[in-house]
Amino acid sequence: MKIALHWFRCDLRLSDNTALQASQAASDAVIPVFIFDPVILKAPDCGAPIVAFMLKCLESLEKNIEAAGGRLIFRHGEVETEMRELLRVTGAKALYFNRDYEPYARKRDGAVEKLAQSMGVEVHHFKDSVIHEPDEVLKGDGNPYGVFTPYSRVWRSKPQPNVLPVAKFRRPAELKEPESLPLPSLKELGFSTDIALPPAGEKAGRERLKEFAANAVLQYADQRNFPGIEGSSRLSPHLRLGTLSPRTVMAAVERAGEEHPTSKKQTDIYVNELIWREFYRQILWHFPHVAESCFKPQYNDLQWENDERLFAAWCEGRTGFPIVDAGMRQLNTTGWMHNRVRMIVATFLTKDLLISWQWGERYFMQKLIDADLASNNGGWQWSASTGTDAQPYFRIFNPISQAEKFDPEGRYIRHYVPEADTLAYPAPIVDHAQQRIKALALFKQT
Ligand SMILES: Cc1cc2nc3c(=O)[nH]c(=O)nc-3n(C[C@H](O)[C@H](O)[C@H](O)COP(=O)(O)OP(=O)(O)OC[C@H]3O[C@@H](n4cnc5c(N)ncnc54)[C@H](O)[C@@H]3O)c2cc1C
Repeated sequence: MKIALHWFRCDLRLSDNTALQASQAASDAVIPVFIFDPVILKAPDCGAPIVAFMLKCLESLEKNIEAAGGRLIFRHGEVETEMRELLRVTGAKALYFNRDYEPYARKRDGAVEKLAQSMGVEVHHFKDSVIHEPDEVLKGDGNPYGVFTPYSRVWRSKPQPNVLPVAKFRRPAELKEPESLPLPSLKELGFSTDIALPPAGEKAGRERLKEFAANAVLQYADQRNFPGIEGSSRLSPHLRLGTLSPRTVMAAVERAGEEHPTSKKQTDIYVNELIWREFYRQILWHFPHVAESCFKPQYNDLQWENDERLFAAWCEGRTGFPIVDAGMRQLNTTGWMHNRVRMIVATFLTKDLLISWQWGERYFMQKLIDADLASNNGGWQWSASTGTDAQPYFRIFNPISQAEKFDPEGRYIRHYVPEADTLAYPAPIVDHAQQRIKALALFKQT
């Protein structure tokens, strides 16, 4: 009997899962496993909201696997040690997983691959969390792109992989299943949060996608920039943890565009956002230094002021700039923030408060349910002008005019900052015009 392990990581679903499908096609039985990795859980940028959301996704995955005839095995500990034990106890002859592009995961997966091979176990890993991998979209001379627009053109010209069916499990009587821990609670993992999580798991992701593809995607380009309107998909936590695959999302959106030809421009712009997600993955893959320092190295020596008092006001949403405070309060209470507002608060932190983008990046990682190293780092460096943005550093948002343009009726601000029009609301903590001049001088010095 050929037994394989499928190692779940950021692919917490049974449908359209590349490695899982391949493992089942090639084996008599597949044992699904999930290992809680202490290196990730103890990292300073690992936040309670995404861990809480992940636990809910795992709870749902465990049930789905049971309904599909299998049993999900949970382990918690040093990954190589746990994997050695799992391979030994099960007698598995093959290990399957989907590739991860983050620097730590690359190192960990490489070590696990070597270990498995030393035990005589075949290792098969697959492209799954992206439509096109970092090395599939390159310039004519084989070098990676550092600018989005030409990257996106080549990305769009590549053939798309197919959507795969739902996996089913077999548990023959002679299968040696390893012991499983019960799914831990958030507290047992050392975290706590009181944010209200959105529906989690594969079914919730599919329902959200169905609703979006039938409605908001048809006005996406017109509405996506207005935080007071539910104009975006809110699929980011599902794409982050893999309760939905990007292929499934892309297929649903393209179908919507075909069924409503007058909305083709709208659905096309949505596809652009999926491409941004992959653009930042390939940046992290080809330029891993971005995780620690500026994409454009000339900005590593910027003399940020890093005033802790101003940083605390920003984190807590009491800067006296209503759109900034609304964004930070949305983040703190829901674990998510609208994209336009992410850009506004990030530009404000760096160019108005003159605080390093790395402080903001870390805070976002700790608070977001879609916290993602590649997209977050890319978004922060773009906003701080240290990254891949083709625009020069003197693009500085004015938080007042941004609010007038994108929240013209004040709907978003009123929701999160109901006291914005009253005396109880603080005066602005900085003068935007003065700070703008200081920011320009700061960048000019480099
Ligand atoms: C400072 C900053 C930090 C960010 N941090 C993260 C993060 O940690 N995790 C994260 O997933 N996104 C991040 N983004 C990108 C973007 O804000 C979110 O993906 C988006 O707001 C999620 O909402 P949505 O699913 O409704 O997006 P939609 O508008 O519906 O977009 C669809 C999908 O495309 C992807 N996407 C959209 N915009 C971007 C973008 N600019 N960069 C990369 N992917 C994109 C997301 O996966 C998203 O779910 C950040 C942006 C900025 C400016």
